[in-house]
Amino acid sequence: MTIIATSSHTPDERGYFGPFGGRFVAESLMPLILEVEHAYAAAKHDDDFTRQLDDFNRHYTGRPSPLYHAQRLSDSLQGAQIWFKRDELNHTGAHKINNCLGQILLAMRMGKTRIIAETGAGQHGVATATVCARFGLPCTIFMGAKDVERQQPNVFRMKLLGAEIIPVTSGGQTLKDAMNEALRDWVTHVDDTYYLIGTAAGPHPYPMMVRDFQSIIGREVADQSLERFDRLPDSLVACLGGGSNAIGLFYPFIENADVKMIGVEAAGKGVDTAHHAASLTKGQPGVLHGTLSYLLQDANGQIEETSSISAGLDYPGIGPEHAWLKELGRVEYVSVTDVEALAAFQECARLEGILPALEPSHALAHVIKTAPHLPRNHIMVVNICGRGDKDIFTIAKALEVAI
Ligand SMILES: *Cc1c(COP(=O)(O)O)cnc(C)c1O
Repeated sequence: MTIIATSSHTPDERGYFGPFGGRFVAESLMPLILEVEHAYAAAKHDDDFTRQLDDFNRHYTGRPSPLYHAQRLSDSLQGAQIWFKRDELNHTGAHKINNCLGQILLAMRMGKTRIIAETGAGQHGVATATVCARFGLPCTIFMGAKDVERQQPNVFRMKLLGAEIIPVTSGGQTLKDAMNEALRDWVTHVDDTYYLIGTAAGPHPYPMMVRDFQSIIGREVADQSLERFDRLPDSLVACLGGGSNAIGLFYPFIENADVKMIGVEAAGKGVDTAHHAASLTKGQPGVLHGTLSYLLQDANGQIEETSSISAGLDYPGIGPEHAWLKELGRVEYVSVTDVEALAAFQECARLEGILPALEPSHALAHVIKTAPHLPRNHIMVVNICGRGDKDIFTIAKALEVAI
């Protein structure tokens, strides 16, 4: 079986995936975006860049991450064989570092001397502050004031790594507002600043570039599967915030029609309540942060507040490539509630000795629902994109236990 590395779904030259994507930015931002696009196009084909990135992925992050047979979980479900792609073992505890390394190497090639980023729960902020420390670049992180309040341990981590945190007090004071503020800062620091976006969203070329850097997840799964099973997996499952870990897992398999793919959104308290973050399941197309994609918005086009037990899935938009893959029917998009994710977290902890983050616990909940109905020789790979240590206080609260 061949694995096709390039895909016909690569965006067109204006950054469109079918009708989605593009770059809806102010005129003053356009030169900056074009500069990133040209620099990335050159870096992509430069062996020195690839070699440097490979070296850091291997020796700094600890790649390749293992592909692990979750045997006790599989036995208990009595259906498909469940395999974990263990991206939670990466340096900084999640997949975010894959993207941060790629982008900071690009920023340095471009001669940029200052890095800015947005963060919600603080995971992308921590990964950005980490690579900035490693390469000696000053780092400014925009974070909603509400999130600064809720995510104190990550705020302190970023400070220890030498980053400056700017609490954003506009709008709902969360991730959406932090991203708006970062875009504003970028326009006013045209010459020296690089904006390191944390997910496969934002204006072109970010959705494509972040996907490419995260595709190392899927490429490794393909290699590891051929080595272990002598074939590709039957299905792939990943959770969706902005969509970067999922597209990273899926992308190298998109042309292989035999590989089924499932993206799992956060249903919060239920998709029929006002408290969820299921933008593909319940949203409508619209423009946010420079890209056209599915969005949770009200009848007046105002972005709605989202809600999920996992801070990393709490984003009202979704990367444009997922919107296109949904339209094409290539990927199945489902949603999982807070309660289901919490149960999956506990199951995984007790059966496998692994504390997954609450984000991939959503993917696991879907696996637990569907695996019993599949044959024993079905190979299902789920991306465990983050570790759960960061979530223990949230989990204690949800389980109503004191720690
Ligand atoms: C940030 C984060 C996510 C959500 O982001 P994607 O871009 O959708 O991958 C999911 N899981 C973890 C552990 C995260 O830190």
